[in-house]
Parts: sequence; structure tokens; C-alpha cells
Amino acid sequence: MDEKYRMLIDGKLVQASTGATMEIVNPADGKAFAIAPKGSPVEVGKAVDAAWDAQPGWASMYSGERGKFLFKLAELIRKEYDELWRLETMQYGGPRSKTANFDIPVAADMLEWMAGIGRGLSGLTLPVGSSARAMTVREPLGVLGLITPWNFPLVTAIAKVAPALITGNTCVLKPPSCAPLTVLRLAEFAVEAGLPAGVLNIVTGHGSSVGEALVVHPKVAKINFTGDSSTGKRIMSLASSAVKPVASELGGKNAFIVLDDADLDAAVEGAIWGSFFNSGQNCGSCSRLFVQEGIYGRFVERFVEAARRLPMGDPLKPETMIGPVAYKGHRDSIERFVEGAGRSNAGLLLGGERPSSAETKNGFFVAPTIFEECDPKSEFMQEEIFGPVVGLTRFKTPDEAVALTNDTRYGLCASVWTKDVRLGMVMANQIKAGTVWINQHLAIVFEIPWGGCKESGWSKENSTLALEEYTMQKHVWIDLAGTPQTPWQDLIRQ
Ligand code: NAD
Repeated sequence: MDEKYRMLIDGKLVQASTGATMEIVNPADGKAFAIAPKGSPVEVGKAVDAAWDAQPGWASMYSGERGKFLFKLAELIRKEYDELWRLETMQYGGPRSKTANFDIPVAADMLEWMAGIGRGLSGLTLPVGSSARAMTVREPLGVLGLITPWNFPLVTAIAKVAPALITGNTCVLKPPSCAPLTVLRLAEFAVEAGLPAGVLNIVTGHGSSVGEALVVHPKVAKINFTGDSSTGKRIMSLASSAVKPVASELGGKNAFIVLDDADLDAAVEGAIWGSFFNSGQNCGSCSRLFVQEGIYGRFVERFVEAARRLPMGDPLKPETMIGPVAYKGHRDSIERFVEGAGRSNAGLLLGGERPSSAETKNGFFVAPTIFEECDPKSEFMQEEIFGPVVGLTRFKTPDEAVALTNDTRYGLCASVWTKDVRLGMVMANQIKAGTVWINQHLAIVFEIPWGGCKESGWSKENSTLALEEYTMQKHVWIDLAGTPQTPWQDLIRQ
């Protein structure tokens, strides 16, 4: 078992002070293959103190110099590409087709892009008559607490670390407890890159101990969190006692709307990708498919046939599209939702049984599962299930589709499939979500902001807007007249 992994605190790679560890289990075979340190609030305290001490020096450095460290981290990620995609796949089951083609190259690219655009942060200059100039200056916030989920372990960490560091903050990063290994390799890269001690700290452990200690620590200026909406609510309530801001990227229950005039091939391909990429473990997955009555039968037949053909099995194989889900408890939770839908009036079209082939029987696999004629108000259609599991509902009019789409506590993303782009735009305007695609689903590039509304959270990741999450606008007023201009001036001068 690989036990080399250590946390990063104050520039040093360390084990937990108690010696506690966590086994990391490969969900493809259910076997532990690595051991990571299990940190505690003690390590959080040390990490925050180190970040606090390092922050003024880091912030005073020219942003171009800070950027050089990000470029070096990107270089090291690229150098260890083969090890990293394999590790990513083994720790949470993301198929190689995702981890090798997306996660690792994107993590490196994102560091480089942020290292460039983060240098250009500017404020406003405002004339106030002829007697004063007012300006705003974008300043770092201080020490940030960054908390990330397991479905894109390295990419989500980099999406927070890169803007946090380039803007002059220091940070303590808490990766997911079931899949911390690629982020712990980042810890080693930070040391190799010569990143000044305390600038980036990484503490592994459970959310209820390490995560909460980070959220309530008085020296932490802001929490930037990606994860489940219920965890987000808990974090916000803990942070509220200190009026601490929380940037939140939370869950989704996203709609995929197919109108009668849609290009059938494109819609089926889009629905397969949107539903089953990363075995459906994406905040942006389309788990509610609303299909207009005229195309319903043809769409469903094609969609089910295509889903049936998706290669499922060992996620290290290049041809695998459906790997295991991240851990046993998650598999069990998905199965409970499927059982619930099975007891309802929804019709099971595909899946519904635990896979039992030689490659899947020991792991935590869920086969692509499709229900039709789902009640849009049912638990199955309202709760985020976060697996390769989707429900279809038939609708009559575009207005009805918009109403169905908005009938959720989430507001992350949605897509509309139609050849009538004008109608698609009208529907996009009416849908309450952070992203609406027309004839696309799950197209995400980091030059474009990503984030939701409602219980999907309210912050922005990616793009130049992300930089605003990591900085504050300070207003500075300069008097040009040489004497204070106040309404009480005459009174005071008497
Ligand atoms: P999760 O909320 O269980 O855990 C996320 C992180 O929070 C982990 O590091 C965990 O240890 C930590 N945590 C848990 N409880 C905590 C607490 N009380 N205090 C502080 N930290 C705590 O989420 P998950 O299961 O790891 O990830 C899946 C979820 O993430 C889904 O809901 C998915 O939609 C969401 N997600 C959202 C986005 C987005 O951009 N909106 C992106 C990826 C994932």
C-alpha cells in the first residue's frame, strides 16, 4: 500500500500530529491502495497560522513573480501526467477517458491562464469634481479556506488555488477525504517549485473536523466551497457568526429540454454525454430530460439504445465510458433512489440492477439507468442523485418545459435542443439557471464563468469573474484641494 502521501503545512510535508491516517479505496475493486494522513483541527490551526504569516510578503510580491510559481506548478503537473491521471482514476473511479483527456491537461492549462490574466486586475478611477479623485483598488482578502469535492479532485482544487494565489492571498486547501491523492501530489509540487512557505497549505481529513475547523477559524477571511448544497448550508451557517463570506458552487438537478423540431441525432448524443459523462457525477449533469410529445417516442428509443451500448468496466481502460461511482456509500445512496423510482409509476427502461460482470462485481458500479414517464415532483426528479441515473418526462408546450425546468430548488444549468434558435433564446431568458446551453450540454471552458443560482450557490468560478471572488474593492479618496471639504467647515473655522 502506498503510504508516501503527506500534507503541506508551512512549506513542510508532514503527517498528522496524531499519526492518524485514512485508507484510500479504489472504487473499481473495493480495495484500499493508498494511505493518506488524517488531519485534525490542530493541523488546521498550524496551517492557518503559517498562511497568516506568509500573506503580507506574498501579497507585496509583484503579480508577475507570483505567476511564475503557477507556471512551475503547471510544468510539474504536465511532467507527472501519467501518474496523475492514473491516480485520479484510481481514487474516485473517473474513467481514464476523462482523467487523462480532461482533468490533468485542464489543471495545468488553468494554472497558466490564471497566472496571466490575474496580473491584469485593476480598479476604477472616478473624478469627484475638481477637488478630489476617488479610486478603487482590488486587494487580496488574506487567508482563504478552500474546500473541494471528489468528482474533479485536482481541477476543482486548481480552479480555486490559482485565482487565490495570483491575487495575493494565501490559503489552506482541504481536499475530499475519499480522493485527496492528486492534491497531495500538488503539495509535493509546491515544495519542488519553491513556493514560499505558508503560501499554499494542504490539510487532509474529514469535513466535520478539518473542514469545520477551517470554516470557523477567525484568521480565515473567506471560504470558497464546492460541494453538496446541504454541506454548503452547514458551512454558511457556521460562517455567519463571524459574517464570513462563503463562495459556493453547489449541487444541481439540471434539465435537458428536447423540442419537437430538434436534430434527433444531436439531441441523443448531447443527452448521452450530459447524462453519463463521469458516470453522471457532475454538478452539471442532466438528470431530468423533458421531451416534447411529438419526438418523445423516437428520442427515447434512440437514447436508451445508445446508453445500453456505453462501455462499462475497468476505468483504467481507454475504451471505458462508465466507471464505478466514487465510493460504496455513494453507490448505496444511488441504489436507494433507483429503488424509490421503481416503486413509483415511472417505467424502468434501462438498468436498475447491480452490474455483476467479472470487471464490475467487486467494485461500486451503477449501470446507466433510465426511467420514463417520471412524475416531475417525485423525489427521483427533485433530489440530486449524482450518478448515471436519469428520468424522462413528456411535455406539450415550450412554456410547460420552462415551468418544469424551473420547478426545482436548484439553479445550476439547463439546455434547450431546437432548430428554432429564436425560441431557444426566449426559453433561455425564462430559465432560472446560471448556464443555459442551446443545442449543447456540459460545454464548459474556463474563460467563461461557471456558477448557479438558488440552492446551486451564487458565486462564479472560472473566467475573470472568478478573480473577483478572491479580492475586495477598496475605495481610496484623494483630496486635491489641500483643505478638507466638509459641510461643517465654516462652523469649525469660526
Ligand atoms: P460534499 O459536500 O460531501 O463534500 C465537499 C467537501 O466538503 C469535501 O472536502 C468534504 O470533506 C467537505 N465537507 C463535508 N462536510 C463539511 C462540513 N461540515 N464543513 C466543512 N467541510 C465539509 O460534496 P461531495 O460529495 O464531495 O461532492 C459532490 C457534490 O459537489 C455534488 O452535490 C455536486 O453537485 C457538487 N459539485 C458542484 C460543483 C459546482 O460547480 N456547482 C462542482 C463539482 C461538484
